Amino acid sequence: MTAKVAVVGSVNLDFIIETERLPAPGETEIGGRFSTSPGGKGGNQALSARRLGADVSFFAKTGQDAYAEIALSNLKDDGADLSQIVASREGSTGAAFISVDQAGENQIAVASGTNLTFDASELPHRIEADILLAQLEVPQPLLIAACDRTDAFVMLNSAPALPLNPELLKRVNLLILNQHEFEDYGEALADYSGMMAVTLGGEGAYLVNRGQEIARCSAFEVEVVDTTGAGDCFCGALAVALAEKMPPEQALQFACAAGALATTKLGAQSGLPYRDAVDAMVTANT
Ligand code: ADP
Repeated sequence: MTAKVAVVGSVNLDFIIETERLPAPGETEIGGRFSTSPGGKGGNQALSARRLGADVSFFAKTGQDAYAEIALSNLKDDGADLSQIVASREGSTGAAFISVDQAGENQIAVASGTNLTFDASELPHRIEADILLAQLEVPQPLLIAACDRTDAFVMLNSAPALPLNPELLKRVNLLILNQHEFEDYGEALADYSGMMAVTLGGEGAYLVNRGQEIARCSAFEVEVVDTTGAGDCFCGALAVALAEKMPPEQALQFACAAGALATTKLGAQSGLPYRDAVDAMVTANT
């Protein structure tokens, strides 16, 4: 049976302009190169899980504009179930305007749009899945409702590191954070006793259950091109591994291999690896 992962989260379209230098306030910088790229943590993690072989249903909200189709295009191409996407007549699809200069320095302005108006009333009454995977770019009351409508194991990537609604935290089985987010939360997680995965960038990741470390994986060695999306890739991969009932050590290794591969290509979604590549990476290192 194929593992079933439901992702509730954000979808954005990134508008990227690369210029020689970033414009200062009030300035115009011409001669840039323009591209668009689908994004949003929800979309990225759903695509990661889909490319790694799970049946993925994506629960998200867009506007009824031209951007929605492009923002969802990679998920559609790879066969994620998008039948539950809400296309609202009010509001616009989430968008990020990203300026990047030659040194890779960037400036990002985000309009979350319909991601922030996504409401519990727009979710189905039941969500059938092995794993429910969510992030904090959509409202927390929506996520609480999603948890209450499923029997799935709930994984929350608490990024961005916003204050966590205690009602949501109560419903979470596994929290995923990077090291910086983990430090930002500090004491706020003192009462949380569920499982936790902490990612350490180029140092790998570890898993904790009830305050005890249960698995650790050092990073796979790769030629890093762009680390954008490594965290989202890790979350999608860990969801697939746990949905497939891999034991903790093996699941963490699978997620770290996927995260490492995501850093070898430019862009958040274009760098997300497929299953064969991750399996080969794990095999080569064991
Ligand atoms: P985030 O993108 O949320 O900050 P991390 O940077 O911690 O997340 O990356 C997530 C995972 O991706 C890490 O746990 C690691 O396994 C992998 N990864 C990230 N950066 C590298 C790197 N430079 N080399 C190898 N693996 C990496």
